[in-house]
Amino acid sequence: MSELLPCPYCGDRMDDYVLQVWEVNVKEYAIGCRNCGASGPNDISKDGATKMWNLRREPKAPTQQWEPLPENVVTQEPAQP
Ligand SMILES: [Zn+2]
Repeated sequence: MSELLPCPYCGDRMDDYVLQVWEVNVKEYAIGCRNCGASGPNDISKDGATKMWNLRREPKAPTQQWEPLPENVVTQEPAQP
């Protein structure tokens, strides 16, 4: 079985056990991520599912982060009665 690429949603620090071959039904398999619940396309073989999962990986956007407010932004005070 080919090596699984890390989950495209969780990032790169996934351990092997996180990605799991799921038997979707009697004849189909998919790779699923136990961390975020993402799953790859179904395939009729485990190896195929692995390949599909690897194909699915795309360059992911940088993790969203909170950005500090620019210094010139004045915090709105509540209006005085
Ligand atoms: Zn994931």
